[in-house]
Amino acid sequence: MKDPFDFTPQSPRFSVIGNPIEHSLSPQIHQLFARQANISLEYSTTLGEPGGFKQAVEHFKASGGKGMNVTLPFKTQAFQLCDKTSDRAKLAQSVNTLSFDNDLVVGETTDGQGLVQDLQNNHGFTIKGSRVLIIGAGGAVRGVLQTLLEAAPKQLTICNRTQGVAMELAHLYADIGPITAQTINHSYDRPFDLVINGTSASLHNELPQVDDSIIGNNTLAYDMMYASKPSIFMKWALDQNAKAAVDGFGMLVEQAAASFNIWHGVKVQTQPVVAALRQGV
Ligand code: NDP
Repeated sequence: MKDPFDFTPQSPRFSVIGNPIEHSLSPQIHQLFARQANISLEYSTTLGEPGGFKQAVEHFKASGGKGMNVTLPFKTQAFQLCDKTSDRAKLAQSVNTLSFDNDLVVGETTDGQGLVQDLQNNHGFTIKGSRVLIIGAGGAVRGVLQTLLEAAPKQLTICNRTQGVAMELAHLYADIGPITAQTINHSYDRPFDLVINGTSASLHNELPQVDDSIIGNNTLAYDMMYASKPSIFMKWALDQNAKAAVDGFGMLVEQAAASFNIWHGVKVQTQPVVAALRQGV
């Protein structure tokens, strides 16, 4: 039990909740940001049990926690327990950042910002005016569509193994920017400037059933998944002569930087953190 006469100032406490969670890099990322910003904080992992998500968040909040990141499979449940969220989170029905503001739980989604910052700042890709294909229509894709459309691509095409879900998302986001749904194996007259694999297929060493015509020698192929080795999708894209193929590790660090900014009001440098952690991934 805490000593009632211990008046040592406590570092603010944060945590990331998910299942599984033990391999999360968020504690390391946030500590590297904290060192850069000269801030002292605690950042732990919390294993969310199926059916126990809300209770785990409330327990962390009641014990003095200041905020939580939320990862698979709880982003939609996190949205549902918020007292206040941004319009972006409402459209995506997903949050990855919770801030505990007195009694209120305030939610935001920073995955889209993570993806767009990584593409534009770390990979030098200009979204404005480009033709983009996004494959997949699960939680990760939902979380990035608005920010991607706000970066003003000429056209964003979405396709998914289960086509109806891609059509629903295209309809939902139609007011934000030029988005259309297409069948996953559609053959195109010319390749895209950017192809984003937002499916979980690479996790199972599988390729989505897309047509070779999506890739040309000026295409940047982006796999949201990250691992120590190039994914099957990245290798396939390079075999089709893509200009480059990159993974989503930078997105992970960038979405964390956006959460850090929400909690601490500090914009951190992400590239040194990506470089420092690359070896350990
Ligand atoms: P979901 O489970 O919510 O969605 C999975 C998606 O993948 C669905 O669209 C599903 O299609 C599709 N899919 C799965 N297997 C295949 C296959 N064999 N062929 C074609 N399509 C397939 O997962 P998430 O959206 O949460 O995650 C997707 C990926 O994004 C993961 O690899 C995850 O690691 C990564 N991610 C990376 C982040 C980062 O910061 N870099 C952040 C969040 C996620 P269907 O609808 O037909 O089932």
